[in-house]
Amino acid sequence: MIRKKQRGQLIVLSGPSGVGKSTVISELLGERPDIYFSVSFTTRKPRVGEADGINYNFVSQETFEAMIERGEFLEHARYVDHYYGTSLRLIEEKLAAGIDVLLDIEVQGAAKVREKCPNAVLIFIIPPSFEELSRRLHGRNTDDEEVIEGRLKKAREEYKEIPHYDFLVVNDKVSAAAAEIAAILTAEGCRTKYRLNLVEGV
Ligand code: ADP
Ligand code: 5GP
Repeated sequence: MIRKKQRGQLIVLSGPSGVGKSTVISELLGERPDIYFSVSFTTRKPRVGEADGINYNFVSQETFEAMIERGEFLEHARYVDHYYGTSLRLIEEKLAAGIDVLLDIEVQGAAKVREKCPNAVLIFIIPPSFEELSRRLHGRNTDDEEVIEGRLKKAREEYKEIPHYDFLVVNDKVSAAAAEIAAILTAEGCRTKYRLNLVEGV
């Protein structure tokens, strides 16, 4: 009999703003509805089409700072003038119930997760080129030129962290990127350390 995994897998997905993380995550969750997507807290304003509690929990700076004080975040970071953070309680409940949890977080937060949760799997996603990243940021039509410039500059800094990630995925075609992530997760779940309970005689 195949026993259910004791604890869920923590999955971290990072990549420059505009690379297509949200798009790829939607595609992945369509195929893998068993994965729980962690909705982060942020102090940035919602973009057109974003909803509170779905894309983010949108909170004020005061609320966010009070949450930091109370130790409510697994990790938090400042990214281009705003706070972003992952609720420890929400994800811990899911992991303890054996549910895999996906975080879409930037590189400083990912480094903290790696430190605190050594079994987390870290995936970095890049566009085919910086030119294409710029096209996607402009095409999304949600940020003004100054914000886009800031994010493109930030992308070059974030690339320096790529060697610390376990896997690298190029988001050329959304379906192919989502399929690669699904394959990574399948392989990760097959690690011997998670399957020793299936072996008879040990
Ligand atoms: P992120 O969550 O990384 O900031 P989004 O998912 O919002 O990025 O995607 C940014 C823009 O790029 C959106 O307009 C989206 O439709 C587009 N996009 C995402 N993936 C691709 C792709 N593989 N090819 C072309 N455009 C893409
Ligand atoms: P955006 O404003 O484009 O939605 O997100 C900006 C950046 O913040 C992205 O790189 C995204 O991955 C990151 N981010 C979103 N939520 C969190 C979080 O909870 N913690 C951290 N550290 N980064 C986050």
